[in-house]
Amino acid sequence: KCHNELVRLRGNIRVFCRVRPVGQEELNASDAKNMVTFDPDDDAVLHLANKGKVMSFELDKVFPPQASQEEVFQEVQSLIISCIDGFNVCIFAYGQTGSGKTYTMEGVPENPGINQRALKLLFTEVTEKAPDWDFHITVSMVEIYNETLRNLLGDNPSEKLDIKMCPDGSGQLYVPGLTEFAVQSVEDINKVFDLGHVNRATACTNLNEHSSRSHALLIVTVSGFNSSTGHRTSGKLNLVDLAGSERIAKSGAEGSRLREAQCINKSLSALGDVIHALRSKQPHVPFRNSRLTYLLQDSLNGDSKTLMMVQVSPMDSNVSESVCSLKFAQRVR
Ligand code: ADP
Ligand code: MG
Repeated sequence: KCHNELVRLRGNIRVFCRVRPVGQEELNASDAKNMVTFDPDDDAVLHLANKGKVMSFELDKVFPPQASQEEVFQEVQSLIISCIDGFNVCIFAYGQTGSGKTYTMEGVPENPGINQRALKLLFTEVTEKAPDWDFHITVSMVEIYNETLRNLLGDNPSEKLDIKMCPDGSGQLYVPGLTEFAVQSVEDINKVFDLGHVNRATACTNLNEHSSRSHALLIVTVSGFNSSTGHRTSGKLNLVDLAGSERIAKSGAEGSRLREAQCINKSLSALGDVIHALRSKQPHVPFRNSRLTYLLQDSLNGDSKTLMMVQVSPMDSNVSESVCSLKFAQRVR
C-alpha cells in the first residue's frame, strides 16, 4: 500500500515489527530454539510459539530477520521526506535489550541504520528543491536517563537540561541551552554522531549497560524558505532509540538499579499511554507523565506522524519479553 493510502486507512500512527536474526553464539548453543514464524501470504502477521501454543500478532508490517537495512529504510522514507513539507515525525525503536533497537536506528559502521540514511536522504531531497527553496538542517542529540535530559552535543555533557513552555502563548516547548549543529553533508553528521557517542560514554562506567537504561534521541530540524514566494516550512524528525523494555526482576533490584527500572517503566508506559490516547482520539492526552512524552509533545500530537518499530528477538529464552513487546505494539496500534 502506498504511504498516502496507509495514512488514510490508519491515521498517523504506524506500528512495525522487526525480528533480529539468530546470533552466532545462539546458533552454536544446541538447546536454543527459534520461536518466531512468518505468514508467507501476509507481511503484517507474525506468529510466536509460547508455552506450547502459537500466538499471532497483526501489525502494519513485519520485517523478518533477512530484511536488510535498506529494505527497512525504504518503508520509512516517505515519513522522513514529509519533514521537508513541515510535518513533525517520530520514529521509535522499542524492545528488550539485545533485540536490535540500536542496529535499526544507528546500525553498524559497514551498514548504517535509519539515523544516517535519514539525514543523507534529507540532504539529497533538499538539494533537488534548490534554487527555489533554501533549507537549513540542524541536529541535536539528547539522552534521557532517570527522567533527566542531557545535552549530548554540549560542551558540558553532564549538565542537565530543562523543558520549558515558550512564553509567547503558542504552546510550543523548547529546551533552553540545547546544542543544535547545522549540518550539510554526511561528513558533518558523522562528526556529530561521534561527538554524541563520546559525550554519552564520558559520564558512565559501562556504556552498554548505560545505553540500555536510557533513551537516546536524535532530533533533526528542517526549515525551508522559498525566496520567490516567501513561503516558510518547518518540520522536525525525532529518531529515538528507547531504553530496554525488559522487566527487571522485582525482588533483585535495589537502590540505583531499582530507580532506573522505575524510570524506564514509567516513561515507556507513558509513551504507550500517549500513543494509545492519540490513536483512540481521547480528549486528554497525558503528555506530562514523563520527560520523554513531554519533550516530544509537539511531535506526537496533531498532524504529526509516528512510527513505532517494535524489535523482537526470535529466541525461546526471550519469549516472555517478546510477548510483552508485541502486546505493547497491539496497544498502540
Ligand atoms: P539493542 O539496541 O536492542 O540492545 P542491538 O541493536 O545492540 O540491540 O542488537 C544486539 C545484537 O544483534 C548486536 O550485535 C547487533 O549488531 C545484532 N543485530 C541486531 N539486529 C540485527 C539485524 N537485523 N541484522 C544483523 N544483526 C543484528
Ligand atoms: Mg541498544
